[in-house]
Amino acid sequence: MIRQHFDPVSSTYSYLLIDPASAEAVLIDPVLEQNRRDAALIRELGLRLMATLDTHCHADHVTGAWAMKEAFGSRIGLAEVYGARNVDLPLRHGMSVRFGAETLEVRATPGHTAGCLCFLSADRAHVFTGDALLIRAAGRTDFQEGSARRLFESVQTQLFTLPDDCVVHPGHDYEGRTSSTIGEEKRHNPRLGGGAKLEDFVGFMDNLGLPHPKLLEVAVPANLSAGRDAPGGPPSPPTWGPVLETYAGVPEIEPDWLVRHLAEVEVVDVRSRTEFEGELGHLRNAKLLPLDELRTRMDEISTTRPVVLICQTGKRSAMAVTILRKAGVQRVANLAGGMVRWRQLGLPS
Ligand code: FE
Repeated sequence: MIRQHFDPVSSTYSYLLIDPASAEAVLIDPVLEQNRRDAALIRELGLRLMATLDTHCHADHVTGAWAMKEAFGSRIGLAEVYGARNVDLPLRHGMSVRFGAETLEVRATPGHTAGCLCFLSADRAHVFTGDALLIRAAGRTDFQEGSARRLFESVQTQLFTLPDDCVVHPGHDYEGRTSSTIGEEKRHNPRLGGGAKLEDFVGFMDNLGLPHPKLLEVAVPANLSAGRDAPGGPPSPPTWGPVLETYAGVPEIEPDWLVRHLAEVEVVDVRSRTEFEGELGHLRNAKLLPLDELRTRMDEISTTRPVVLICQTGKRSAMAVTILRKAGVQRVANLAGGMVRWRQLGLPS
């Protein structure tokens, strides 16, 4: 199972590959700034993240490898030739990476950088090409020991020899295209396909005239520590409580934490008065503020304490979280599962 994730700032694709039977997964090219999103999906699907694999030492974003290792204990894979720190799996051509019943073959495809790797599924149906081969394009070759000659050779020998129907999953796309195939790129890639010769490709690449990558001086040193030395680090989680952001983007807090910290937070119940006084009951210190009145009664909510929002099952209160966040409230979370779960856990109301 392949889940493609996009980082809009760097136009990077990350790929979460899952073996459903064992629930083991690997994550190719994680982006540090997207760590919360990627981690949320891994948690929600109950996966064991075995490894993060970077196709190369990136110049346009910092890898999320170290942050993922801290969260899930995953091993860090990167080409050995970079000599980067904190790498658990120094990868070389011909090695394989296993997760569950799946295997990825490592293919060295230098040219965009000296250490670029592609990852090929055992059935040769999918190849993760990083920046060696992009959809109708190829990664630039004008810095980080890049070489148009080497890239041409890599693509011709390591990628264009794969089956025509092998799906190409690129490291980036700037036009919203999501995948291609080897056969398609062999025919239509304007740099490498349609019978292009080495001189054609080198001439093309030497005249791209691209601007110096903005993040090069920041991203490359950080990536040579597998993302550990990233300036600023990953987006920091809230400090007032164990708030976890869901894949849907909702910050949630668990009932067992809330019951022990009721006095430290403002509990706002967004159900109707009838529900508030009904069978499920309500939390002892909850403030009733029905969802459809929330926007006009915002000034009644504490600005000094974190806010926890509650409804019946956590759906309306998730909407309330969005409303409060838009209004600039930072320290806010949804009670996971709402009053129904609270009561199921036997907590007092
Ligand atoms: Fe790159």
